[in-house]
Amino acid sequence: MPKGGAMARTMKPISEWTVWDPVTGRSNVPIRPRMMTIHTAVTNSPDIYGPGLGPGRTHSHFYNPKSGKMRQHQEINRKAFADGDGNNYCVSVEHWDGYPNGAPGYWKHGSDVPPLTDSQIENDARLFAHLVKHFNLPNRIATPNNLTGLGWHRLGIKGNWRPYNPADLKTWTGNQSGVKFSNAFGKACPGDRRIDQIREIYARAQEYLTPTKPAPKPKPTPKEEKDFLMALTDNEQRELLRLARTGKDDDVKIKTAIQRLEAEVAEIKAELTDIDANTVGGKVWRTNAAMGRAEKARLEAEAAEPEEGTND
Ligand SMILES: [Zn+2]
Repeated sequence: MPKGGAMARTMKPISEWTVWDPVTGRSNVPIRPRMMTIHTAVTNSPDIYGPGLGPGRTHSHFYNPKSGKMRQHQEINRKAFADGDGNNYCVSVEHWDGYPNGAPGYWKHGSDVPPLTDSQIENDARLFAHLVKHFNLPNRIATPNNLTGLGWHRLGIKGNWRPYNPADLKTWTGNQSGVKFSNAFGKACPGDRRIDQIREIYARAQEYLTPTKPAPKPKPTPKEEKDFLMALTDNEQRELLRLARTGKDDDVKIKTAIQRLEAEVAEIKAELTDIDANTVGGKVWRTNAAMGRAEKARLEAEAAEPEEGTND
C-alpha cells in the first residue's frame, strides 16, 4: 500500500457498476477491511451522501439505492462511520428502504423494514465478491464469534432479541458478539427480512467468485451420411453420384457408400410418397388437381366454340 495514501486518494469507482461519489472531508485513516456490513438507511432517497450531502462523519462507504448502481462515498481501505466499534475493520453499505422522508420516527421493529430489491442484492453480491477477491475478506457469512466476511449491523447491536438460534441469522446479535456497532439498544437495522436475504447475497456472490465453467462444447457427432446427402439439392446429389461413378477405382469405398446411400434415399422417398398418399392433405390435393384438370378441359372446350354476342 503506498504511504500517504496518494494513490488511494485518487481511487476511481471500483468498477462500471459503481458510481464514485466521495463525501467531502472524509477520513484518511487507513483500515484493514475484514467484514462487509449491511445496513438499512431509513430513507426513500436515491442518493444520501456525496459532496455536499455527507452528514458530517456519519456516512458509510457505500449507498445501495432501490435500483441502479451502488454509490461509493469513501475509499474501501479508509475509515467510514456507520459501524461504531467496527469502523476500523468494516466496509459499510447503507441501503434504500423506502422509508417516507420526513415521516416521524423510524422503523420500530425489525419486521417493519421491507426486503432488499433484486438490484440491491445483485450490487451487494458483486461488492462482496470484489472485497473477497481484492481485499482478502474471508469468503464466509459472519458469525457472532467471528466478525469477518459478509455481515450486518445487528451482529453488533444489543437488544431484546429472540434467543440465539444457530439456524436463524436474525438472532445473531450484539448480545453474543459483545461488540458495539451502535449505541442504540435494539436498533432494527438492517431489518428482519434483509437479514433473511444474507444467504441469498452470499450465494450470488459465489457465482461471481467462481466463474462457471464454459459449457462443454458438444462432441461433434459423426454426421450421418444420410443427413449429408439429404442436405444436398437434387442437382448436387446427381453431380456427386456422377463424380463417384466416373471416379477411379481407388475410390471404390466412396462409390460403394454413395450407392448404398442412393438406395436408402430411394427407400425414404418411396416411404414419403406412401405417407403422402395416405394423408388427408394428399387426398384433397389430388382431388383438387383432378377437378382443376376437368375444369380446364371444360373451359378449353367452351373457348373452342363460336362466341355468342353479348350486350353489356
Ligand atoms: Zn445500520
